Amino acid sequence: MSEPTISQLQPMPGDWQRALAVVAHPDDLEYGCSAAVAAWTDAGREVAYVLATRGEAGIDTLEPAQCGPLREREQRASAAAVGVSAVEFLGHQDGVIEYGTALRRDIAAAIRRHRPELVITLNHRDTWGGVGWNTPDHIAVGRATLDAAADAGNRWIFPELTERGLAPWNGVRWVAVAGSSTPTHAVDARPGLERAVRSLLEHRTYIEALTSEDPETYVREFLTATATTTGERFGGAPAVAFELFAR
Ligand SMILES: [Zn+2]
Repeated sequence: MSEPTISQLQPMPGDWQRALAVVAHPDDLEYGCSAAVAAWTDAGREVAYVLATRGEAGIDTLEPAQCGPLREREQRASAAAVGVSAVEFLGHQDGVIEYGTALRRDIAAAIRRHRPELVITLNHRDTWGGVGWNTPDHIAVGRATLDAAADAGNRWIFPELTERGLAPWNGVRWVAVAGSSTPTHAVDARPGLERAVRSLLEHRTYIEALTSEDPETYVREFLTATATTTGERFGGAPAVAFELFAR
């Protein structure tokens, strides 16, 4: 009997110039994805971040009114660590983001502003694989982002965006979903891994509330372990995985 073969992940497409990452919370991109972002910005590509919330409900010991501005600052520093200067917040309420046309419109507007060929988001499925239940915010934002990639290109779906001067953008060629339990593609994490550690470490208040471990040890071990496991399906090199939906 032969061993079952583990299917290998394909390299991500390289023929694009602009990416837009759309996620629910500060730290969603840093928990695994930002090594890929660092490699892309190194290569001269433009990457912008859009966050549906400021993550104001993310720290039990901090009131949302204090937490939101603090996490916004941490997110901006975290983006800067991997070469991203454009960071926008849509102002939805953390924990209770609703999937629907309001969210799709906000994301379609962001896609029209940034005109990306590649859109990144986080796992939109019910689980992380197995029985690890996903959060409603990730599911709502992931699904709305997959949908908004098409909405952005159709002038008749949200005509008020055109009236606001946001011309349709039908140039999104792929939506890449990070944190998927059924990934198809990957990016070599090695060139960006050290900056990904710095980037996640910028969410210091959040991490200190999460674990009693030394923050740097926690961050480095988490990111290295994730990238190493992914790398088993990418020729052995530590990697960042995505499930790629082509349009
Ligand atoms: Zn999140």
